[in-house]
Amino acid sequence: MTVETRTGVPMSGPDLAEREIELVSQVLRGPTLSIGPMVEHFERAIADYVGMRHAVAVSSGTTGLHLAVLAAGVTDGDEVITTPFSFVASANVVLYERARPVFVDVDPLTFNLDPNRIEAAITPRTRAILPIDAFGQACDMPAIREIAQRHQLPVIEDACEAIGARWDGVQAGALADAAVFAFYPNKQMTTGEGGMIVTNRDDWSELFRSLRNQGRGPDTAWLNHVRLGYNYRLDELSAALGLAQAERLDDLLAKRDRVAALYTERLRELDGIEPPYVSPRATMSWFVYVVRFAPEVSRNAVMARLAEHGIPARPYFVPIHLQPFYVERFGYRRGDFPITERAGDTCLALPFRSTQTEAEVDYVVEHLRRAIRDGGKC
Ligand SMILES: *Cc1c(COP(=O)(O)O)cnc(C)c1O
Repeated sequence: MTVETRTGVPMSGPDLAEREIELVSQVLRGPTLSIGPMVEHFERAIADYVGMRHAVAVSSGTTGLHLAVLAAGVTDGDEVITTPFSFVASANVVLYERARPVFVDVDPLTFNLDPNRIEAAITPRTRAILPIDAFGQACDMPAIREIAQRHQLPVIEDACEAIGARWDGVQAGALADAAVFAFYPNKQMTTGEGGMIVTNRDDWSELFRSLRNQGRGPDTAWLNHVRLGYNYRLDELSAALGLAQAERLDDLLAKRDRVAALYTERLRELDGIEPPYVSPRATMSWFVYVVRFAPEVSRNAVMARLAEHGIPARPYFVPIHLQPFYVERFGYRRGDFPITERAGDTCLALPFRSTQTEAEVDYVVEHLRRAIRDGGKC
């Protein structure tokens, strides 16, 4: 093995080609750096890809989720049902509107919102349901939507990790009142910073366009502000990058599939570690590759050993309810959401990007094998 000659593997990385440079350059050569045609082209590309009537580009996944929460009418003292096994932004956007995230625990296999736990959490203050598509596996939207419709609640899907994922063959985002994708550089496709809201609701689409643009009215008269708005716009350079990435999205996802398949094949030979669970109903859009360790293996010890060999790996996710700010504000404790906590304690995201070579996968797996053998035991 050539394992020892390598110096390390990056945690993630964008996959950029000539087309990206070409489209971004086209913007640089023109006069329009914001509010221009690239944003419109990019929106159309994503709307078509997901099969939705509207796509509205925004400055990040977080700002997109914030606007979706606003569209759902979430306000002071309201409750939004969501999970604590996510990136902190999905709960923070509820706090932005002085409402309360009501956490319910996740399915122990997919780590997504367990539909069976929703109804017990609904109260007269519940204003929306906000499920997450963790790691690029779409959540069970048919079940979630059925419950939501029965209680006349909108569903906001945090699909920031799941563009192109499917559940029962249906695209992530397609069954939500609004769904949000994110394009930070470690996601499946990137705009640098950026996000996209998709919806089939004409009224929400119009509202999103107004809210992201300082609350301007639909006539877009430059200084006519009809509501409290924000500057959550995506600029033309970012949109050009996004358009080029959207054109290549199937290819980008296929390359990630290949890397995930290599990992899964290699990991089958190792004891004490499990590859990611993929439901038979799911088609993954691989965002991260997250393994689970058996109880007798110390995840943190393995992580430390990998780091010694230039292999970054991260606990993913650290549960939101155990984040210092949430503990301080809401008094959450260990034991509140046991399935989420077990996942948080035993999961590790390995280096993963579309351009990862087979040799890099082998390097990571070989050091995982050694770490589990020597240092991974508690
Ligand atoms: C990336 C991500 C976000 C936020 O995206 P930004 O573009 O970084 O604001 C939100 N939720 C989840 C689950 C994410 O992974």
